[in-house]
Amino acid sequence: MTQDEDLLLAVLNSAPVVDGTRTEQLVGETGKALAARYDGTPAELEHLRQVRDTLQDLVRGQADATSRLTALLAGTALVPEATPAGLDWELVTPPERRLAARVALAWSRVEEAMPGRLRACANTRCNLFLVDHSRPGTAKWCSMAVCGNRMKTRAHASRKRNSRAAQQQH
Ligand SMILES: [Zn+2]
Repeated sequence: MTQDEDLLLAVLNSAPVVDGTRTEQLVGETGKALAARYDGTPAELEHLRQVRDTLQDLVRGQADATSRLTALLAGTALVPEATPAGLDWELVTPPERRLAARVALAWSRVEEAMPGRLRACANTRCNLFLVDHSRPGTAKWCSMAVCGNRMKTRAHASRKRNSRAAQQQH
């Protein structure tokens, strides 16, 4: 996993569904800890939540979220500095938007490097996201252990129900 993916997934997956309810982790102590893990501060959490919600919508195919993302990145710039090996790009943002801007950049680079591989978990009751590294590109679940097996069990149960129903019609 690249650094970009690590940061992107940590933030995208910070509102998991627990016992059927969407929970917010980008607040309080958990929020503080996540920000600190990526050299951020609690003052950045509000923008981080907004960028997360917007990116979640974008990944789920709501194309109109792009204008919201552009607005959230107001005042953000990449400033070049030449080195013998090429250009270094320094991220310049208002301090409270820095982590949010880094997440948006990470999202953009992941989409560029692996088009279509960032997706929402196929379990519609789950609010987690994954980057699919499988060769065929068919990964659907945030985790096979959690959603994969649960959905397979459900599909199996409904197949059984359907076949029982079909038998009863005869
Ligand atoms: Zn899931």
